This record gives sequence, structure tokens and C-alpha cells, in this order.
Amino acid sequence: MGDSPAMKTIGVVGAGVMGRGLAQNLAQTGHQVLLQDISAEALEAASQEIARNVRFSGMLGKKTALAGFPKVSADEALSRIEFTTSLDGFGAADFVVENAVEKTEIKEPIYRRLDEICRPGVVFAANTSCVSITRIGSWTGRPESVLGMHFMNPVPLKDTSEVIRGYHTTDQTIETGLAFLAQMGKEGIVVNDLPGFVSNRVLMLTVNEAIYLVQDGVASPEDVDRLFVKCFGHAMGPLATADLIGLDTILYSVEVLYESYNDSKYRPCPLLKKMVDAGLLGRKSGEGFFTYGVA
Ligand code: NAD
Repeated sequence: MGDSPAMKTIGVVGAGVMGRGLAQNLAQTGHQVLLQDISAEALEAASQEIARNVRFSGMLGKKTALAGFPKVSADEALSRIEFTTSLDGFGAADFVVENAVEKTEIKEPIYRRLDEICRPGVVFAANTSCVSITRIGSWTGRPESVLGMHFMNPVPLKDTSEVIRGYHTTDQTIETGLAFLAQMGKEGIVVNDLPGFVSNRVLMLTVNEAIYLVQDGVASPEDVDRLFVKCFGHAMGPLATADLIGLDTILYSVEVLYESYNDSKYRPCPLLKKMVDAGLLGRKSGEGFFTYGVA
């Protein structure tokens, strides 16, 4: 498994939290990766983090979704990834996963450009938290080949993804998407398209409401999370989850839900906005609701 995947060269757009995890998982499962970001700093940080995490994943043994694949050294993994600030080479991609910032004004031009560069029929998987897949498909001339692929974080450790069928997405595209996930050591759960899908319509409301609890002085972040962990048996509380995802990504996601449904239940908590403005983004900045040793 993983030696010669049918979809060999994978284009990954965005080298942030998710793009890095994807590129690592893909390299460790035998793929060639084109990892693109507009930020050279993000690409440099991605390269360092991938090398560190590949070394570390050797110690995790069968806890990861990569258990059935041959072990790969950090050098081998990096040699399979081309780090680039340009989308021009994406004509070589057999499959594309997009992980740019969760803002439609950023995503739309990327899809328009990918549609020009990529071969007809190549599937575009949007790793969006909340944006409608039908809307993303409308930015391309190939809406039948666009699906949502909502990966969980950290990507190499998670063995299941939410797969979203847009209005025009064909069965063949869904099959291709599921085959792609299998190549990465994962399964998909297929759902229909409305903004936020299943997981984030629930999760983003929960996280946003948990932030209101802190803002309103009902409980400290520690106690909010302890109730979910100790009483509900969750592996992680909503605020530690928010820190893991990134508070900027949470804010943009809740904003997308608010714009999409025009429903006040999705109004973002002012404390969330304030923390993002203050640069408290969670794990990736070193501080959010909790503090972290390494950013
Ligand atoms: P991030 O902020 O860590 O990274 C986003 C990256 O996109 C940055 O490196 C930025 O430089 C890059 N970018 C900005 N404009 C770009 C452009 N025009 N072209 C290419 N790259 C560009 O965010 P993230 O957490 O990796 O999230 C990326 C996507 O994945 C979002 O749509 C988010 O909703 C989704 N997502 C995130 C999580 C999570 O847990 N963080 C989980 C599932 C899905």
C-alpha cells in the first residue's frame, strides 16, 4: 500500500496548518507533492515543521493513519515535496487539494486560476471549513469535478474525513475523492452540501458559544474545557480545540456561516474578534485561550 498510488502527483494549495499536514501525509504515503503558498515564509516554516513531524511520527507507531505504509525518512519525505510560490506547475497535478485562508475573496481567484492551469477532469477538493462546495464549483468550468474534503487536524493522525457533494458533483468525482483518501490511509464520510456541512455547523456554534461563556464571566477557559473532558468524555474541550484549529480560522468560519445563512445564531463572539485582532491565534501563535511553549 502507498508505493505507487494511481493519482501520483498532488497539488496542495496553502502551506498553513492544514496544507503542511496534508503535504506530510501525502509524502509519507508515496505521492509527489506540489505545495504552493503565496508566502515564502510559510513554505520555509512548512518545510521545517514537516521534517520535524516526520521524525516524530516514527515514534508514534500505529497511532497514526499511516500505520500500513512503509516508513519514510524526513529527507525522503522532503524530496517528494516541491515548495513553490507559483501555481504554474499545477498542470502536472493528478488531483488538487485547496487549503488557503477561509475567505471567499481569497479562495475564488485561486479556483479560477486552477481551472485554467489544471487538466480537464482533474478533481479539485476544497478543504474548507464552511464555504459551500456548490459555490466553489461555480468559480470553475468543472463544477462536476469539485468536491469538499474536510480534513481533520492534525491530518497525518486522523483516519477519517468529511467528504461533501456539491450540487453538480458527480458520483465519479466522489469515487475519485474516496480513492484519493484511501491512498492517504483514510476513509471518507459523504454528506450533502450546505455551508459548514455536518461537522462545522455544530462545532463552530459550540466553540463560539464557549467563547461567549468566557466573555460573560460564567467560567474560566480551563473550567469550560474541563466540563467537556471530565463530564462528557470528550478528548479535548471546545477552547483547546479552537486553539488547535486557529482562532483566525474559527472567526472566518463563523463569519462564512453568518453570511451564508443570514441567521444571527452564527454571529461571531466579540471576544473572538478581539483575540484575533490582538494576534492571539492559538497554538500557531503560541497563545490563545491557553499558552503553548512553541509557536
Ligand atoms: P492557515 O492560516 O494556517 O494557512 C492558510 C495559508 O493560506 C497561509 O499559509 C497563507 O499564506 C495561505 N494563503 C493565503 N492566500 C493564499 C493564496 N492566494 N494562495 C495560496 N495560499 C494562500 O489556515 P489553515 O488552518 O491551514 O486553514 C486552511 C483551510 O483549511 C481553510 O479553508 C480552513 O477553514 C480549512 N480547515 C482548517 C482546519 C484547521 O483545523 N485549522 C481544519 C479543516 C479545514
